[in-house]
Amino acid sequence: MLEIERLSVRYGPVRAVEGLSLTVASDAAVAVLGPNGAGKTSTLRAVSGLVAHGGSVRLDGAELAQRSPRRIAKAGVVHVPEGRRVFGSLSVEENLRVATVAGRGRPARFSIGDVYDLLPALASMRGRGAWALSGGEQQMLAIGRALVASPGVLLLDEPSLGLAPSVADRIYDTFRRLKGAVGLLIVEQVASRVLGIADTVVVMREGRPVGSGPASEFTDPHRLARLMIGVG
Ligand code: ATP
Repeated sequence: MLEIERLSVRYGPVRAVEGLSLTVASDAAVAVLGPNGAGKTSTLRAVSGLVAHGGSVRLDGAELAQRSPRRIAKAGVVHVPEGRRVFGSLSVEENLRVATVAGRGRPARFSIGDVYDLLPALASMRGRGAWALSGGEQQMLAIGRALVASPGVLLLDEPSLGLAPSVADRIYDTFRRLKGAVGLLIVEQVASRVLGIADTVVVMREGRPVGSGPASEFTDPHRLARLMIGVG
């Protein structure tokens, strides 16, 4: 279980995140929704140790705050950043093989074969250079790389951004299949898909949580839009 308590992130005078608390159970999906600049990316970067932060981040009771990004990933908090970073010069399979190193020392939760079962499109292009993949295929590969690193919790930064709707639907089908096996913390600006799998929703605006609760409370698009932009 990942527990974030009173998280704050500052960049000089800019308060990017202030007073954010949320919990991701190991079998649950939590959505963080908010417009551009709400502090969603900063939240994920703080959890994975990439930016300094105040407050507490615990994984199964152990404080992560003082650990390096590498050790946080090794502990099982694995980040899929926006922009799907993969090694363009390596093949799909090489990208997956390299990523297994991050999970070394803990029991492997997903083998490369499991990733191919979950994301069959990757299996059929295992020898292809990652530079030649489409945006959606790169996103699948980035998710596959995160899985072979043996996550307890996956941090997903706008996983559907810039993808064709049918490709984004496939990505979310994969999350649906993963749910229960891995905790999912998914950041999105667009609510529709993530509301279909999230148990809990947190809405952020200008760095602060402005609403949270069961996903069923956020299905009214007008209410959600008002929360996100701060009117009404
Ligand atoms: P987006 O959807 O655009 O990624 P976001 O909700 O993820 O937005 P953040 O990227 O976390 O929001 O940004 C939160 C605030 O912090 C914004 O005001 C942004 O301009 C500011 N910010 C982000 N990164 C930095 C940085 N490296 N230096 C200074 N300010 C930053």
